[in-house]
Amino acid sequence: MYNNKINLVYRKEMVSNERVGSSKSPNKPEYLLDFITRNKLHIHFKLFEEWEAFTTEDFYLAHTKKYVDSFFAGKEPLASSNGLKWNPQFADSVRYTNASLLQAIEQSILHPEAIQFSPTSGFHHANPNSGSAFCTFSGQVIASVKIGNQYKLKGAYIDLDGHFGNSIEDSKVFIKDLKNLIPYNINPNGANEMYLENLVRDLNRLTQDLLAGNVDYVVFCHGADSHEWDDLGFQCTTEEWLKCSDLVYQMIDRVSKKLEKPIPLTLSLFGGYRSDDYNSVLSLHTADLCKCLDILCGQDIHYLPVVRKK
Ligand SMILES: [Zn+2]
Repeated sequence: MYNNKINLVYRKEMVSNERVGSSKSPNKPEYLLDFITRNKLHIHFKLFEEWEAFTTEDFYLAHTKKYVDSFFAGKEPLASSNGLKWNPQFADSVRYTNASLLQAIEQSILHPEAIQFSPTSGFHHANPNSGSAFCTFSGQVIASVKIGNQYKLKGAYIDLDGHFGNSIEDSKVFIKDLKNLIPYNINPNGANEMYLENLVRDLNRLTQDLLAGNVDYVVFCHGADSHEWDDLGFQCTTEEWLKCSDLVYQMIDRVSKKLEKPIPLTLSLFGGYRSDDYNSVLSLHTADLCKCLDILCGQDIHYLPVVRKK
């Protein structure tokens, strides 16, 4: 039902040229694509790079003018409210990461048979007035507002980062229609079996709304910091983390088959922090992408992640 390759919504301007703090996430798109290429998996991706960065006005959709203007001018304290060290090139890269997510979702709507991958993070803790915890702007909120305005469609976010994605909830006072535009922000709580049980419960609810046509597109963000050996995570063993990927992609497969049309699906990265071995983070993200390729794109890769024990 889906194409055999994943569409990669990437431009090199999305990457920060230098480290801007303890988080490697501003450099993650490049690190991950290198990792995928080293593992000879790049043949499963089709590059889409003909798209433009966000303008300053785009960010006003989900943030106060004061915050947006301060950030792009490098004016403190707001410029580093994301916990990262500001520089002009990093600020510019944020225009591209946020645009990548919107472009990916839009492509998934225009071409539902093509699964879209926006190799991005740094969105889900931002709030209307500032950045927070390595996140600058609420990219998912901006994207879903734009999609809602243009296509009148509603999205579900499956946020399996180890931390609660507060930006959608925090934006509800700023954007009055947001509850309607994003009816699902799935963040299971608990750990191990409980985390999986909560995910299954939420996916079952989402299944009903996808079948009923109450949700039009899905964005899956499988943060690697929900892994038990991540510097900032505790929730899942490697086996459980991969099981989460299985559960999401199998649900998408079931629903698409029942509806006899592919559900528009976008993938994003979100968190992942291993100061001792960053390849463990990249390997988990790669394993998730390979699960998608195997379950939904007719591939037979069976990639096994290498996660170094802490
Ligand atoms: Zn996180």
